[in-house]
Amino acid sequence: MNTGKPNQPAVVKGLARGVGKCTLVGAGPGDPELLTLKALKAIEAATVLLVDDLVSDAIVALASARARVVHVGKRGGCKSTPQAFIEKLIIQAVREGENVVRLKGGDPFIFGRGGEEVAHLQQAGIEVAVVNGITAGLAAVTSLGVPLTHREHAHGVVFVTGHAKSSDKGMDWGALAGAAHSARLTLVIYMGVSAAGHIAAHLLGGGLPGETPVAIVENASLPGQRHAVSTLSGLQETVEREAMVSPSVIVVGNVLQGLLALTHPAARDGTTGD
Ligand code: SAH
Repeated sequence: MNTGKPNQPAVVKGLARGVGKCTLVGAGPGDPELLTLKALKAIEAATVLLVDDLVSDAIVALASARARVVHVGKRGGCKSTPQAFIEKLIIQAVREGENVVRLKGGDPFIFGRGGEEVAHLQQAGIEVAVVNGITAGLAAVTSLGVPLTHREHAHGVVFVTGHAKSSDKGMDWGALAGAAHSARLTLVIYMGVSAAGHIAAHLLGGGLPGETPVAIVENASLPGQRHAVSTLSGLQETVEREAMVSPSVIVVGNVLQGLLALTHPAARDGTTGD
Protein backbone atom coordinates (compact mmCIF):
# COMPACT_ATOMS: atom_id res chain seq x y z
CA MET A 1 0.00 0.00 0.00
CA ASN A 2 1.28 3.45 -0.80
CA THR A 3 1.49 5.88 2.11
CA GLY A 4 0.40 8.67 -0.22
CA LYS A 5 3.07 10.99 1.17
CA PRO A 6 5.29 12.27 -1.63
CA ASN A 7 8.44 12.06 0.53
CA GLN A 8 8.01 8.48 1.63
CA PRO A 9 9.23 5.41 -0.26
CA ALA A 10 6.40 3.33 -1.67
CA VAL A 11 5.47 0.92 1.12
CA VAL A 12 4.17 -2.50 0.29
CA LYS A 13 2.48 -3.96 3.36
CA GLY A 14 2.95 -7.57 4.28
CA LEU A 15 0.45 -9.72 6.10
CA ALA A 16 1.65 -8.74 9.55
CA ARG A 17 3.97 -6.10 10.92
CA GLY A 18 7.48 -7.26 11.83
CA VAL A 19 9.41 -5.56 14.62
CA GLY A 20 12.11 -4.26 12.33
CA LYS A 21 11.81 -3.30 8.70
CA CYS A 22 13.26 -4.00 5.31
CA THR A 23 13.98 -1.53 2.52
CA LEU A 24 15.05 -2.54 -0.97
CA VAL A 25 17.36 0.25 -2.02
CA GLY A 26 18.56 1.00 -5.54
CA ALA A 27 22.29 1.76 -5.35
CA GLY A 28 22.43 3.14 -8.90
CA PRO A 29 25.12 2.20 -11.43
CA GLY A 30 28.12 2.70 -9.11
CA ASP A 31 28.98 6.37 -8.67
CA PRO A 32 27.89 7.26 -5.09
CA GLU A 33 26.90 10.73 -6.29
CA LEU A 34 24.15 9.15 -8.36
CA LEU A 35 22.41 7.82 -5.21
CA THR A 36 19.10 9.44 -4.34
CA LEU A 37 18.91 11.27 -1.02
CA LYS A 38 16.35 8.72 0.10
CA ALA A 39 18.77 5.88 -0.69
CA LEU A 40 21.59 7.60 1.19
CA LYS A 41 19.40 8.11 4.27
CA ALA A 42 18.31 4.47 4.21
CA ILE A 43 21.91 3.24 3.89
CA GLU A 44 23.10 5.44 6.74
CA ALA A 45 20.25 4.30 9.00
CA ALA A 46 20.61 0.57 8.28
CA THR A 47 21.73 -1.79 11.04
CA VAL A 48 22.06 -4.72 8.61
CA LEU A 49 22.99 -4.39 4.92
CA LEU A 50 22.72 -7.24 2.42
CA VAL A 51 24.76 -6.16 -0.57
CA ASP A 52 24.40 -7.47 -4.11
CA ASP A 53 27.08 -7.79 -6.71
CA LEU A 54 27.51 -4.62 -8.75
CA VAL A 55 27.09 -2.36 -5.72
CA SER A 56 30.29 -0.33 -5.52
CA ASP A 57 32.50 -0.35 -2.42
CA ALA A 58 32.24 3.44 -2.26
CA ILE A 59 28.51 3.07 -1.64
CA VAL A 60 28.87 0.33 0.98
CA ALA A 61 31.36 2.63 2.74
CA LEU A 62 28.50 5.07 3.40
CA ALA A 63 26.95 2.62 5.90
CA SER A 64 27.35 3.12 9.63
CA ALA A 65 30.51 1.56 11.08
CA ARG A 66 28.20 -0.32 13.48
CA ALA A 67 26.12 -1.89 10.68
CA ARG A 68 26.51 -5.56 9.84
CA VAL A 69 27.39 -5.84 6.14
CA VAL A 70 26.78 -9.12 4.31
CA HIS A 71 27.93 -9.49 0.68
CA VAL A 72 25.58 -11.83 -1.11
CA GLY A 73 26.85 -11.48 -4.69
CA LYS A 74 29.29 -13.49 -6.79
CA ARG A 75 32.21 -11.16 -6.20
CA GLY A 76 35.63 -12.74 -5.93
CA GLY A 77 34.56 -15.68 -8.06
CA CYS A 78 32.44 -17.22 -5.26
CA LYS A 79 29.02 -18.60 -5.96
CA SER A 80 26.28 -16.13 -5.17
CA THR A 81 24.19 -16.72 -2.06
CA PRO A 82 21.00 -18.59 -2.94
CA GLN A 83 17.98 -16.30 -3.09
CA ALA A 84 16.06 -18.36 -0.51
CA PHE A 85 18.93 -17.96 1.97
CA ILE A 86 19.04 -14.18 1.44
CA GLU A 87 15.31 -13.97 2.09
CA LYS A 88 15.68 -16.10 5.24
CA LEU A 89 18.41 -13.77 6.49
CA ILE A 90 16.19 -10.73 5.88
CA ILE A 91 13.18 -12.28 7.61
CA GLN A 92 15.21 -13.32 10.64
CA ALA A 93 16.90 -9.91 10.96
CA VAL A 94 13.61 -8.04 10.66
CA ARG A 95 12.05 -10.27 13.31
CA GLU A 96 14.98 -9.44 15.57
CA GLY A 97 14.10 -5.78 15.16
CA GLU A 98 16.88 -4.82 12.72
CA ASN A 99 16.62 -2.07 10.15
CA VAL A 100 17.55 -4.12 7.10
CA VAL A 101 18.62 -2.55 3.82
CA ARG A 102 18.85 -4.79 0.79
CA LEU A 103 21.20 -2.95 -1.57
CA LYS A 104 20.77 -3.71 -5.24
CA GLY A 105 22.63 -2.30 -8.24
CA GLY A 106 20.79 0.24 -10.38
CA ASP A 107 17.06 0.20 -9.71
CA PRO A 108 15.70 -2.71 -7.62
CA PHE A 109 12.77 -3.19 -9.99
CA ILE A 110 14.76 -3.31 -13.23
CA PHE A 111 16.13 -6.84 -13.74
CA GLY A 112 17.07 -6.96 -10.08
CA ARG A 113 14.60 -9.69 -9.07
CA GLY A 114 13.17 -7.06 -6.75
CA GLY A 115 9.63 -8.10 -7.58
CA GLU A 116 10.25 -11.70 -6.59
CA GLU A 117 11.95 -10.65 -3.38
CA VAL A 118 9.14 -8.29 -2.34
CA ALA A 119 6.53 -10.99 -3.01
CA HIS A 120 8.37 -13.58 -0.89
CA LEU A 121 8.95 -11.16 2.00
CA GLN A 122 5.30 -10.10 1.93
CA GLN A 123 4.27 -13.73 2.11
CA ALA A 124 6.37 -14.00 5.26
CA GLY A 125 4.55 -11.00 6.72
CA ILE A 126 7.45 -8.58 6.32
CA GLU A 127 6.77 -4.96 5.46
CA VAL A 128 8.96 -3.85 2.57
CA ALA A 129 9.70 -0.37 1.26
CA VAL A 130 11.38 0.23 -2.10
CA VAL A 131 13.66 3.12 -3.01
CA ASN A 132 14.40 3.73 -6.69
CA GLY A 133 17.90 3.91 -8.07
CA ILE A 134 19.24 5.17 -11.40
CA THR A 135 19.24 2.17 -13.67
CA ALA A 136 22.52 1.32 -15.43
CA GLY A 137 21.13 1.83 -18.94
CA LEU A 138 20.05 5.35 -18.19
CA ALA A 139 23.41 6.30 -16.67
CA ALA A 140 25.31 4.59 -19.49
CA VAL A 141 23.66 6.55 -22.28
CA THR A 142 23.75 9.84 -20.42
CA SER A 143 27.49 9.42 -19.79
CA LEU A 144 27.96 9.50 -23.58
CA GLY A 145 26.07 12.78 -23.80
CA VAL A 146 23.28 11.01 -25.69
CA PRO A 147 19.56 11.21 -24.86
CA LEU A 148 17.44 8.04 -24.79
CA THR A 149 14.59 9.80 -26.57
CA HIS A 150 14.76 12.53 -29.16
CA ARG A 151 11.97 14.10 -31.16
CA GLU A 152 13.77 13.32 -34.42
CA HIS A 153 15.25 9.92 -33.60
CA ALA A 154 13.38 7.98 -30.93
CA HIS A 155 9.87 8.15 -29.58
CA GLY A 156 10.43 5.70 -26.77
CA VAL A 157 12.81 3.33 -25.01
CA VAL A 158 12.79 -0.40 -24.34
CA PHE A 159 14.83 -1.85 -21.47
CA VAL A 160 15.34 -5.47 -22.34
CA THR A 161 17.36 -8.39 -21.00
CA GLY A 162 19.71 -10.34 -23.26
CA HIS A 163 19.63 -13.18 -20.78
CA ALA A 164 16.18 -14.65 -20.18
CA LYS A 165 15.49 -17.41 -17.62
CA SER A 166 16.69 -20.71 -19.06
CA SER A 167 13.18 -22.11 -18.78
CA ASP A 168 11.89 -19.34 -21.07
CA LYS A 169 11.85 -19.75 -24.83
CA GLY A 170 13.93 -16.59 -24.96
CA MET A 171 13.40 -13.15 -26.32
CA ASP A 172 11.59 -12.60 -29.62
CA TRP A 173 14.31 -10.34 -31.02
CA GLY A 174 12.71 -10.32 -34.45
CA ALA A 175 9.45 -8.87 -33.11
CA LEU A 176 11.38 -6.37 -31.03
CA ALA A 177 13.44 -5.28 -34.05
CA GLY A 178 10.26 -4.71 -36.07
CA ALA A 179 8.71 -2.63 -33.30
CA ALA A 180 11.91 -0.66 -32.70
CA HIS A 181 12.18 0.14 -36.40
CA SER A 182 8.57 1.07 -37.08
CA ALA A 183 7.84 2.82 -33.77
CA ARG A 184 11.33 4.38 -33.57
CA LEU A 185 12.42 3.05 -30.21
CA THR A 186 15.84 3.03 -28.55
CA LEU A 187 16.80 -0.44 -27.27
CA VAL A 188 18.80 -0.72 -24.06
CA ILE A 189 19.99 -4.30 -23.66
CA TYR A 190 21.14 -5.52 -20.24
CA MET A 191 23.19 -8.71 -19.74
CA GLY A 192 23.72 -8.93 -23.49
CA VAL A 193 27.47 -8.74 -24.20
CA SER A 194 28.14 -12.47 -24.14
CA ALA A 195 25.28 -13.03 -26.62
CA ALA A 196 25.94 -9.90 -28.72
CA GLY A 197 26.40 -11.84 -31.97
CA HIS A 198 23.16 -13.79 -31.52
CA ILE A 199 21.23 -10.65 -30.58
CA ALA A 200 22.59 -8.61 -33.51
CA ALA A 201 21.82 -11.39 -36.00
CA HIS A 202 18.20 -11.59 -34.83
CA LEU A 203 17.72 -7.82 -34.75
CA LEU A 204 19.06 -7.63 -38.32
CA GLY A 205 16.82 -10.53 -39.33
CA GLY A 206 13.84 -8.74 -37.79
CA GLY A 207 14.35 -5.68 -39.95
CA LEU A 208 16.64 -3.26 -38.12
CA PRO A 209 19.05 -1.81 -40.69
CA GLY A 210 22.71 -2.85 -40.44
CA GLU A 211 23.80 0.79 -40.24
CA THR A 212 21.75 1.41 -37.06
CA PRO A 213 24.20 2.86 -34.53
CA VAL A 214 25.06 0.89 -31.39
CA ALA A 215 27.12 1.62 -28.29
CA ILE A 216 28.44 -0.75 -25.66
CA VAL A 217 29.09 0.86 -22.28
CA GLU A 218 31.06 -1.08 -19.68
CA ASN A 219 31.18 -0.12 -15.98
CA ALA A 220 29.00 2.95 -16.53
CA SER A 221 29.62 5.73 -13.97
CA LEU A 222 32.56 3.87 -12.40
CA PRO A 223 36.21 4.96 -12.63
CA GLY A 224 36.88 2.10 -15.09
CA GLN A 225 34.08 3.08 -17.49
CA ARG A 226 34.79 2.52 -21.18
CA HIS A 227 32.67 2.36 -24.28
CA ALA A 228 32.75 1.43 -27.95
CA VAL A 229 30.57 2.68 -30.79
CA SER A 230 29.70 0.76 -33.92
CA THR A 231 26.86 -0.17 -36.23
CA LEU A 232 24.49 -3.06 -35.62
CA SER A 233 26.19 -5.12 -38.33
CA GLY A 234 29.55 -4.54 -36.64
CA LEU A 235 28.35 -5.18 -33.06
CA GLN A 236 29.81 -8.63 -32.47
CA GLU A 237 33.15 -7.79 -34.06
CA THR A 238 33.37 -4.62 -31.92
CA VAL A 239 32.51 -6.44 -28.67
CA GLU A 240 35.22 -9.00 -29.44
CA ARG A 241 37.87 -6.56 -30.66
CA GLU A 242 37.39 -4.23 -27.68
CA ALA A 243 36.99 -7.17 -25.26
CA MET A 244 33.87 -5.62 -23.73
CA VAL A 245 32.70 -7.67 -20.74
CA SER A 246 30.00 -7.64 -18.06
CA PRO A 247 28.73 -5.37 -16.59
CA SER A 248 27.90 -3.66 -19.87
CA VAL A 249 24.79 -2.39 -21.56
CA ILE A 250 24.27 -2.34 -25.32
CA VAL A 251 22.33 0.59 -26.71
CA VAL A 252 20.81 0.38 -30.18
CA GLY A 253 19.19 3.25 -32.00
CA ASN A 254 19.39 6.39 -34.04
CA VAL A 255 19.83 8.59 -30.95
CA LEU A 256 23.49 7.50 -31.31
CA GLN A 257 23.80 8.82 -34.88
CA GLY A 258 25.78 11.91 -33.93
CA LEU A 259 28.17 9.92 -31.74
CA LEU A 260 28.68 7.30 -34.45
CA ALA A 261 29.42 9.97 -37.03
CA LEU A 262 32.01 11.51 -34.68
CA THR A 263 33.62 8.16 -33.85
CA HIS A 264 33.43 6.55 -37.31
CA PRO A 265 32.97 9.24 -39.99
CA ALA A 266 32.77 6.51 -42.67
CA ALA A 267 29.72 4.97 -40.94
CA ARG A 268 27.53 7.55 -42.66
CA ASP A 269 27.97 5.45 -45.80
CA GLY A 270 27.05 2.29 -43.88
CA THR A 271 30.56 1.06 -43.02
CA THR A 272 32.14 1.35 -39.58
CA GLY A 273 35.62 2.34 -40.77
CA ASP A 274 38.10 2.84 -37.90
N1 SAH B 1 18.97 -3.53 -11.41
C1 SAH B 1 20.11 -3.22 -12.27
C2 SAH B 1 20.31 -4.26 -13.35
C3 SAH B 1 20.71 -5.62 -12.80
S1 SAH B 1 21.01 -6.79 -14.07
C4 SAH B 1 19.90 -1.82 -12.88
O1 SAH B 1 18.80 -1.26 -12.77
O2 SAH B 1 20.85 -1.29 -13.43
C5 SAH B 1 22.75 -6.67 -14.26
C6 SAH B 1 23.09 -5.99 -15.58
O3 SAH B 1 22.94 -4.58 -15.45
C7 SAH B 1 24.53 -6.17 -16.04
O4 SAH B 1 24.73 -7.40 -16.68
C8 SAH B 1 24.66 -5.01 -17.00
O5 SAH B 1 24.00 -5.28 -18.21
C9 SAH B 1 23.89 -3.94 -16.27
N2 SAH B 1 24.75 -3.09 -15.43
C10 SAH B 1 24.71 -2.97 -14.09
N3 SAH B 1 25.59 -2.05 -13.66
C11 SAH B 1 26.23 -1.59 -14.77
C12 SAH B 1 27.22 -0.60 -15.01
N4 SAH B 1 27.79 0.09 -14.02
N5 SAH B 1 27.60 -0.38 -16.29
C13 SAH B 1 27.04 -1.05 -17.32
N6 SAH B 1 26.08 -1.98 -17.16
C14 SAH B 1 25.67 -2.25 -15.90
